[in-house]
Amino acid sequence: MDKITQSPSHVLIFPFPAQGHVNSMLKLTELLLLAGLDVTFLISANDHNRLSSYTTVHSRFSIYPGFKFHVINGLYDGPMNTGQNLSLMMADSLPKVATPLLRNLLLDSHVTCLIADGIMGFALDAAQGTGVPVLFFRTISVCAFWAYFCIPKLIEFGELPFEGTNMDEPILNVKGMEGFLRRRDLPNCLSNQALQQISSITCRTPEAHALILNTFDDLEGPILSQIQKHCSNIYTIGPLHAQLKARTLSKSAFSNSLFQEDKTCIGWLDQQVPKSVLYVSFGSITTLTRDQLIEFWHGLVNSGKPFLWVIRDDLVSNTGENKVPSELEEGTKERGYIVGWAPQEDVLAHPSVCAFLTHNGWNSTLESIVEGIPMVSWPFFADQQVNSRFVEAVWKLGLDMKDTCDRKIVEKIVKEVMEVRKMEFTESALRMANLAKKSVNEGGSSYSNFNRLIEDIKMMDV
Ligand code: UDP
Repeated sequence: MDKITQSPSHVLIFPFPAQGHVNSMLKLTELLLLAGLDVTFLISANDHNRLSSYTTVHSRFSIYPGFKFHVINGLYDGPMNTGQNLSLMMADSLPKVATPLLRNLLLDSHVTCLIADGIMGFALDAAQGTGVPVLFFRTISVCAFWAYFCIPKLIEFGELPFEGTNMDEPILNVKGMEGFLRRRDLPNCLSNQALQQISSITCRTPEAHALILNTFDDLEGPILSQIQKHCSNIYTIGPLHAQLKARTLSKSAFSNSLFQEDKTCIGWLDQQVPKSVLYVSFGSITTLTRDQLIEFWHGLVNSGKPFLWVIRDDLVSNTGENKVPSELEEGTKERGYIVGWAPQEDVLAHPSVCAFLTHNGWNSTLESIVEGIPMVSWPFFADQQVNSRFVEAVWKLGLDMKDTCDRKIVEKIVKEVMEVRKMEFTESALRMANLAKKSVNEGGSSYSNFNRLIEDIKMMDV
């Protein structure tokens, strides 16, 4: 055996620079390191600084001599909550800065394979001719991936762009979703241009050596079988955060937050009645108008349920004004607790939490599923529209508010999930949680698929 084959396989990991992407790809990194592989993780200077300030990532990873961050300067790190920003980031600033850098790394370092965020199609071009296999990792659900993949077909059959305004019109050309997918459930990427970009990048997936997905077969098996017709080499290894906990026998979460967590909310949760609290968070990118914030606020206070609400400094888009309206001060003080950023995995695992009002970002959705917490869905953009439809219509894990944001509806749906149909939703959420846990423990599908991934990466060096 020569020297190269004796050294551990070396994986280059490149996430899209946003919270949900960095988080799940760091979880994957930690799993690869545990399995004995070396990893270089490409990260923007801004995200690197934030991880250093707000997490223990550096000390956690310092036990692995084969790990290093490779910091990239000059990447766009502004907001991504408009179609224009998203579009520019994907088509221009990201590929321009990252392509030459990636190419040099692939040519100069001993790299076994590149695991690139599947939203970055340019990674395939950068790797061309280097002989290094590119594996795509998608941070979204299989159901959303498949909807993006089918967009050219929807255009071909005249289902996109819409004619007419009936958003309840059924969509017929996303195989496996006939019967419940409506216009309003299609991915909405804030502009047609951004939607087309994400769709065409998704359609390049079969060019990658393999596709890694943060999901589990019992959750998304039927739609997965549609994708398998186009991509033969798929590894479903999620929920990653649960797989990491299972393999390390850890009870607490491995935080990869780009925001400072306010842990005082755990003390507040400790004082609440078991299974009584609504946790409210819209993730790291979603924005609300001041009017929407007020509607949510009234609905939450009027529901009469205790609530823990994450209001990021930049949550309100138009005025930036996120203070409590005077007429709601008393109700908020009595039943509410507000933080700028929460230790979400620990919050969802807390016995006081009963339900989650969420934008259905895929990380949040999986975190809720693993803890058996029913959901009230209010999707903002991208994959979230499809996820929320699956939450209600397929998995029966909660109710989907979709495009409505009215205080009466918020109040009604919160009561429906936490009171009227509490038993029904809690039971189905617990059933799904058990399946999720089974998948990441020894003998489970995600556990076995992860082992197969490691063996296949090692074989690339031989
Ligand atoms: N998150 C958190 N604290 C918060 C809100 C969110 O730790 O107060 C984490 C959450 O646990 C999840 C991630 O941020 O892992 C958000 O990712 P997701 O895919 O749900 O949504 P995105 O932010 O990409 O829209």
